[in-house]
Amino acid sequence: MESLPPSNCPWERGTRELFKSIKTKKISANELWKYCHGRAQEINGETKAYYQIFDKAFAGASVDSSNNVLLGAPVALKDFIFAKGNECTAGSAILEKFIAPYSASCVQRLVDHGGVILGRTSMDEFGMGSSSENSFQGPVMNPWNLSRSPGGSSGGSAAAVAAGSAPFALGTDTGGSVRQPAAFCGITGLKPSYGRVSRFGVISFASSLDQVGTLGLDAYGCAKLLESISGQDDRDPTTSHADAFKYEEPGAGVFKGLKIAIPDLMEEVEMDGNVKAAFEDFKIFLKTNGAILATVPMPLLKYSLAVYYLICTSEASSNLSRYDGVHLGFGGEKNVSLAKVMSSARSLGFGSEVKRRILLGTFALSAGYRDAFFNKAAKVRRLIKESYESIFESYDLILTPTTLESAFKIGDRIQDPIKMYNSDRLTIGPSLAGLPAISFPAASSGLPVGMQLVAPYFKEQRLLEVVDAYQEASDGFRPGLAPYPFEGATHG
Ligand code: GLN
Repeated sequence: MESLPPSNCPWERGTRELFKSIKTKKISANELWKYCHGRAQEINGETKAYYQIFDKAFAGASVDSSNNVLLGAPVALKDFIFAKGNECTAGSAILEKFIAPYSASCVQRLVDHGGVILGRTSMDEFGMGSSSENSFQGPVMNPWNLSRSPGGSSGGSAAAVAAGSAPFALGTDTGGSVRQPAAFCGITGLKPSYGRVSRFGVISFASSLDQVGTLGLDAYGCAKLLESISGQDDRDPTTSHADAFKYEEPGAGVFKGLKIAIPDLMEEVEMDGNVKAAFEDFKIFLKTNGAILATVPMPLLKYSLAVYYLICTSEASSNLSRYDGVHLGFGGEKNVSLAKVMSSARSLGFGSEVKRRILLGTFALSAGYRDAFFNKAAKVRRLIKESYESIFESYDLILTPTTLESAFKIGDRIQDPIKMYNSDRLTIGPSLAGLPAISFPAASSGLPVGMQLVAPYFKEQRLLEVVDAYQEASDGFRPGLAPYPFEGATHG
């Protein structure tokens, strides 16, 4: 990947370098804010990564120096997560102009740890999509090539980072929404374990799967952002009581003796040539550095997609029933019966993908079909989770590419939901199992390609240190920032 990053980007050499520059006062937090704010406006015309760019940093009142993990660095926020007093739409017309009455716990923690919020990023409506096209906000463009999708649903967050407007961003990942956009945009994205980060103040899609994730130029950035948001929260009973995450720098010889499993599914699926090449190159890198790789049978993985789409649509159909045009959301027709108010609000307010999923989910849960669909999917999900657990009895990590292809063209899949759903084939397994998984760039030419590593429950440290060590070792190849002017730009 030839890189002509935006000149003077303060994190051109990675997040570690950025933090060093702040600590050594080469750049002040204020200068960094000005850079990000200016750059966000500059790139937004072409990428539409941001739904809103804040004029003034959304920051904590004061930051205790011992907690100052993020050192004043700006973060882009997916428009799914509440920041008190600011609009939060979930990419849906039904929530347009809805003002967040409080801040999400992760936002509160982020500002308490010295982060500031730069703006809100565009997304697929209610997190449903893999291209950031399903939204009243309009499609987001991939900075690596503006005719391509940045992936979804956290496509705005990924594009904001890849375009060099923010060193990192928060997203959410239910079935791949942090990892797939990270892969398409050439950056690093971490979905933490279920229960690692509070979802209080994060709009729900499918509650047994949703997780807040971090996107950054590199694993170090993802780690620092995770440090600032993780930990138990009384306001989200699904958070674990384990200690908050604290990143430890990788020691020498991280790869030596590391046992990595590759699911046999990879022998059956068809992947694009550039994905295959990057996958092979990465395997060679691992072996050369002392890791032990083996193919393992995971026959149930091929059912992940079907299981996921039954579970997520069922949970979504229930979660979305609160948008009735009365309690919450855009009001429908006035001076008509209550039933008409509700049906008009939902008909006009929800987009077609959301309606499709409400219908599918309502069907899967309905009397007479629940056993055949939802309950069966829940049973297979349990078996999939157990198959991961049994692999982790003998292996440290599981490796696949993140997706089977690089960023597809905007408009290519939007009319064909099954084709779109297929983009998630490799990211959904770890989501069903509640496991941490990371996507990171691993191609040396052409459009970005992501590799995915999955770790046992709560072993984010292992994922991050392996990817961090890889990124430090792959000398000269500094993925993340898209060359500028962007390919496909008509001006600039
Ligand atoms: N693309 C998947 C879906 O549409 C995953 C989305 C997500 O993780 N929010 O459901």
